[in-house]
Amino acid sequence: MPERQQPESPPRLKILMVAPEVAPFVKVGGLADVLGSLPKALARLGHDVRIVCPLYGSIQVQDHWTAIPQPLIVNLGFGAMYGRVWETRLPGSSVPVYFIEHGQYFGRPQPYAGPWGDHVDNDQRFTFLSRASIDLCGLLQWTPDVFHAHDWTVGLVPVYLNTTEWDTPLGGAASVMTIHNLQFQGIFRRDLLAYAGLPDSVFHPESLEAMGHLNMLKGGLYHASKITTVSPTYAREIQTPEQGYGLNHVLRYRAADLIGILNGIDLDDWDPAKDPLLPEPFSSGELAGKAACKAAMQGELGLAVRPEAPVFGVVSRLYDQKGLDILGRILPRLVTKMDMQVAVLGSGDAAIEQSFRQAATDYPDKVGLHIGYNEGLAHRIYGGSDALLMPSRFEPCGLSQMYALRYGSLPVVRRTGGLADTVVNFDEVRDTGTGFVFEDATDTALFNTIGWAVATWYDRPEAWGRLVRQAMAQTFDWERSALIYSQVYEWACSARRARRL
Ligand code: ADP
Repeated sequence: MPERQQPESPPRLKILMVAPEVAPFVKVGGLADVLGSLPKALARLGHDVRIVCPLYGSIQVQDHWTAIPQPLIVNLGFGAMYGRVWETRLPGSSVPVYFIEHGQYFGRPQPYAGPWGDHVDNDQRFTFLSRASIDLCGLLQWTPDVFHAHDWTVGLVPVYLNTTEWDTPLGGAASVMTIHNLQFQGIFRRDLLAYAGLPDSVFHPESLEAMGHLNMLKGGLYHASKITTVSPTYAREIQTPEQGYGLNHVLRYRAADLIGILNGIDLDDWDPAKDPLLPEPFSSGELAGKAACKAAMQGELGLAVRPEAPVFGVVSRLYDQKGLDILGRILPRLVTKMDMQVAVLGSGDAAIEQSFRQAATDYPDKVGLHIGYNEGLAHRIYGGSDALLMPSRFEPCGLSQMYALRYGSLPVVRRTGGLADTVVNFDEVRDTGTGFVFEDATDTALFNTIGWAVATWYDRPEAWGRLVRQAMAQTFDWERSALIYSQVYEWACSARRARRL
C-alpha cells in the first residue's frame, strides 16, 4: 500500500519576543498575560521562541536562574553600555526568558512610573532595552527569523533592523509590531536619536518623527514588516480619527499589513474547576461551588452575604479608558434604586478611586472595595460575582471579560474593540447570548443596561442560567491565535526576503 502523505508541517521559526512585561514575573496589564501564554502556545507548534524583558527591581532572581558569564555590550550612540543577562524559563514550559539587568535603568520596582509619575528617563531606559535585544543575539550567537516587538517601549526594534542592522546578519530578520494599546506611544525629544545611535535620516514624518518629536511607536509601525493588534474590531477602530490617537493615518497607510488577532486566555491558570485561588471549585455542570464562591467573596469584601442579590464585579485599572468614571458617578443611584451589589478591585486615577471609596463608605453592605492589585481576589471576584462591568471607552482586546465568561460572570460591556468580538449580546427572543452590550459611553446607557441585567436576574432566572452556561462554554484558547501568529510570522519573513532581494 502506498504510504499516506503527511501534511507538510510549517517550518520552525526562531522568534524573539521583546517586551516590557511578562507574566508571572512582572505584570501591569494584559500585555503581560499575552507574553506569559502566547510563547508557550507557539513553542507547542514547534517554534524556537524566546523572550527578552528588563529585570526590574521587583523581580527576584531565583537560585535556579543562570547568569550568562559574558557581559551584554549594548551599542548605543555614545558608545557601549553594559548589562548582565539572566536566563530562566517561562513557568511550565521550556521557553527561555532573558532578563536584562541594569541597575540604573531597571533597578526601580515599577516598569513605567513611580509615585510621582512616569520615570523621567523612560526614553533612555526603553531605547536601551530595544538595543539590548538586538545585541543579545550576538551574545547568544542566535539569529532570529523574526523579532516580535510589543508596544511603544520596543518600537525602536524594527527601526534598528532597517537601519544600523540592515547590512548585518540580523538585517535579514523580519519584524512584527503588536499594538496592545495605541494610547501610549513613547513621545520624546529628538535628541534621543543620538543616544540611540540611529541615523538622522529616520527623523522624518514617514518614520520616527511626529510633530517635531520622536515617536517610538510610530517608528515601529512604519518599519515593522507586519503589524498586529489584539482584536479584529480594534484593528478597524484604530484606523479612524476617533480611536487612532494621531496615528490613524499611519495605520491606514499600512492597512494591508495590519491584522487583528484576538488574545486567548491560559485555560490552565483560569479554570474554575481547579483554581486553587477559589474557595470551592465549580463548572457549568456543577454550579453549587459558584454559590459558595459568591458567599465567600461577599464576606471577604464586607458585603451583605445575600445569595439572592446579584453581584456586579469590577477587576480593572481604574481609568477613564475603562469608563469607570461613569460607573463612579452612577454608583449611588444604582445601589439605591436596584437591589444589587458591586465588588470593585483596582487602582488608578485618584478621582475614580475616591468615587468608589465614597460609595463604599456610604453603602458598606452594597459596595465592596479593594484598592490595589491582588491576584487572588481577582480570581475570587470573577468566580463569586454574577456579572462583570466593563464600560470601556476603548478596549484593544480585554482579558477580564474572557475570564469572567469562563467563570460564569456575565459581562456588561460597551460595544468596542475586543469586547465587541468576545461578548454576544443577550437576545431575549432567541434566548442566545453571553452578556449585556451597550453602545454609548454615557451614564444613561450604562445605568439602563445594568437595569436590564438586574431585571433579567430577578424576573427570568432560567434565562440567566442559560446565559451563564453559554458564557462558560466559550473557548478563547491560545492554540487558535498562535496558529494565526505563525502565519503572520511566515508572511513577515517572505515580505522581508522580498525587500532584501
Ligand atoms: P488592561 O491590559 O487594559 O489593563 P485587560 O482586561 O486586557 O486590561 O487585562 C487586565 C488584566 O489585569 C486582567 O488579567 C485582570 O484580571 C488584571 N487586573 C487588573 N486590575 C487588577 C487588580 N487590581 N488586581 C489583580 N488583577 C488585576
